[in-house]
Amino acid sequence: MINFEASKSFAQMLDETDPLKTFRDKFYIPKTPDGKQVIYLCGNSLGLQPKIARSYIEQELEDWAKLAVEGHFKARNPWMPYHELLTKQMAEIVGAKPIEVVVMNSLTVNLHLLMVSFYRPNKQRYKIIIEKGAFPSDQYAVKSQIKFHGLAVEDALVELCPRKGEVCLQTEDIIENIRKHADTTALILLGGVNYYTGQAFNFEEVTKAGHEVGAVVGFDLAHAAGNLELKLHDWNIDFAVWCSYKYLNAGPGAVGGAFVHERYARSFDLPRFAGWWGHNKNTRFNMPPDFDPMPGAEGWQVSNPPIFQMAALKASLDIFCEAGMQNLRQKSVKLTGYLEFLIEQIADERIKIITPRNPDERGCQLSIQVKQSDKRLFEKLLANGVIADWREPDVIRVAPVPLYNTFGEMFEFYEILKRILSKDV
Ligand SMILES: *Cc1c(COP(=O)(O)O)cnc(C)c1O
Repeated sequence: MINFEASKSFAQMLDETDPLKTFRDKFYIPKTPDGKQVIYLCGNSLGLQPKIARSYIEQELEDWAKLAVEGHFKARNPWMPYHELLTKQMAEIVGAKPIEVVVMNSLTVNLHLLMVSFYRPNKQRYKIIIEKGAFPSDQYAVKSQIKFHGLAVEDALVELCPRKGEVCLQTEDIIENIRKHADTTALILLGGVNYYTGQAFNFEEVTKAGHEVGAVVGFDLAHAAGNLELKLHDWNIDFAVWCSYKYLNAGPGAVGGAFVHERYARSFDLPRFAGWWGHNKNTRFNMPPDFDPMPGAEGWQVSNPPIFQMAALKASLDIFCEAGMQNLRQKSVKLTGYLEFLIEQIADERIKIITPRNPDERGCQLSIQVKQSDKRLFEKLLANGVIADWREPDVIRVAPVPLYNTFGEMFEFYEILKRILSKDV
């Protein structure tokens, strides 16, 4: 453990000795109206643009101009198999084997597609266990799937609640609930990192407990992919989905990802909503009438994918793989630890970090509750060049991203926050 110091020179020293310090320069940092770089703490919502994204997209525009339909096979990166270009790197980032990962669609769409295959309620087993206060899209998706099967949400949906007076879930309580609904649970679906509290769940323990009672276990990794060091394959998770516009910096509306464990790679009898892009690529263009799914996660593809979006994602994945997920996580723990240390200097009755203290139970995000504050706090931060994120009723979420945020920014943010709060917002 380092003994942190709340000083500008200390923060500068941390930046100078940061082995990933050159990566910031690979991104465009937004500026304030007077031309100063903002302190961007919102990479959990939309990651910054890699400077190389433009040339990656331009290459596809050029090939489209020169080759038109021939680009499917003759582009420098042929469009037909374009998604395959991303598989290996994406698999590395989430700790999976290439056959388990596919880049496609967007998150909620993938969640639905995989629930079609992995939420198979019957008379006895029909419940879905989720965290109370899960991201709204996940709640809507899950409830609509329950209704789609003709079941009642009140009966089929089990929501995990924190203990009285607490905001995060305890692993033992999650497991106890899984056991309580042992015979009736079909699916357990948790966010890898809760978007509100920043709590990272114990993937391995939850998956084990779920499998012990005979349930399927899936994760929504929207706030985990590119943030935590994941080991989806080893943790034995059944399926997972994520987006790429948050920590993965692939731009607004980026193509999402999906993971299906290797043990289902040839489970062709699993019901699925099929489309031609999931069909055996050797015979796809013979246009046969019957669906012959590809083995592995690729077999869940439906449509031919958006190449420009994939090009932007490729740019970002190249940077991720150059930096290395393990190195990124190492810096992330230190960067968030430093921010936590600084906020503790001003913490009092009013200000409290609601994210777990243990680095193993969180990613880079800290959720700071400021009692009796309102959105004006967020607006004052913005006026001082800080882009954070406000969640009603009284939480600011800040997510220092190891690829482009600096220790110096943490110190500056701390000084700005301290100044604003002393003036009583
Ligand atoms: C960001 C986020 C989403 C967004 O879903 P899209 O389908 O990408 O629009 C869904 N779920 C969680 C948990 C998220 O954090």
